Amino acid sequence: MTKSDRQLAMVLDLNKCIGCHTCSIACKRLWTRDEGMEYMWWNTVNTQPGRGTPRDWQEMGGGFRDGQALPGKLPTRGEFGDAWKFNHEEVFYGGKGEKAHLKPQGKDPHWGPNWDEDQGGGEYPNAYYFYLPRICNHCTHPACLEACPRKAIEKRQQDGIVVINEDRCRGYRFCMEACPYKKIYFNHAEKVSQKCIFCFPRIEQGVANACARQCPGRVRFVGYRDDQAAPIYKLVDKWKVALPLHPDYGTEPNVFYVPPIAPPSFDENGDLDPSKPRIPDEYLVSLFGPEVLEVLEVLKAEMAKKREGAESELMDLLIAYKWKEMFGGFDRDPATIEWTGS
Ligand code: SF4
Ligand code: SF4
Ligand code: SF4
Repeated sequence: MTKSDRQLAMVLDLNKCIGCHTCSIACKRLWTRDEGMEYMWWNTVNTQPGRGTPRDWQEMGGGFRDGQALPGKLPTRGEFGDAWKFNHEEVFYGGKGEKAHLKPQGKDPHWGPNWDEDQGGGEYPNAYYFYLPRICNHCTHPACLEACPRKAIEKRQQDGIVVINEDRCRGYRFCMEACPYKKIYFNHAEKVSQKCIFCFPRIEQGVANACARQCPGRVRFVGYRDDQAAPIYKLVDKWKVALPLHPDYGTEPNVFYVPPIAPPSFDENGDLDPSKPRIPDEYLVSLFGPEVLEVLEVLKAEMAKKREGAESELMDLLIAYKWKEMFGGFDRDPATIEWTGS
């Protein structure tokens, strides 16, 4: 196992995510605009329950059980959802007025990165959904790193960010098979694997990750795991309300989630039944492990306190009155920096 001196982490409050995809676009604009990266979304936001991105990624294997690596499937470009080409020329410059409409070109697409967006699960009147944004988890025990025979994947000593050295990568894609979160993409133009870099060039300048800083929902907290004064430590270690996604995958993720609370279900008479949660407990347990049930109780108790006018450090943290305090000191304005490089 590769231990770093310190570990950067992200906490996402799923009760505040509005599924706007600003995070995905912020990342795309910054990092994945080159040839071969068209289909890449290092940050994805999927509706749960749903098949996710890549399609059915939770059934693709990889990761570890009892410390032993498990075989994993290589996700295809089609399963990620290829980039569609649209008839922009025809609509904007074709002189057809309102007769032309934007539509994907070529064969009708049958899958995309958000194909089942807002469908969710459950039956009327107890249907439910929530959004699950995902990036690389910059795992403490990264399956991708262990699977690479070229030693092209590094976990940075100073901050635990997991990066791929493209000069060493030969495009074998064992990392893509091994990552149980399926968060690595293959660049078919450059013939190398690529993934979220936790915005390390920004981090090194004291600027929070683009997906976090641009988030209008104030969903994402950033910082070092061991910074006891910052929200990450308080949410993960002090209040213990932020949990990793699929701890059962054995990679020890460093991205954590405050689980979603939904209203209770309606009974057959149309009355709310507080004993029956709208999002089934077993579904949340399948994503975040059994601790999630206790976390929901803590969240509900602190919400009730706050509603009654009492003090709640936890609610104040999650409300995030002061936006910049979410970033564990990485609160520098990127516009004040003279960036070099392409
Ligand atoms: Fe590697 Fe996947 Fe963990 Fe990212 S999420 S560090 S790609 S195993
Ligand atoms: Fe993209 Fe940076 Fe967010 Fe990673 S941390 S998903 S590189 S914006
Ligand atoms: Fe959710 Fe924030 Fe991303 Fe919007 S930008 S989808 S609110 S995490």
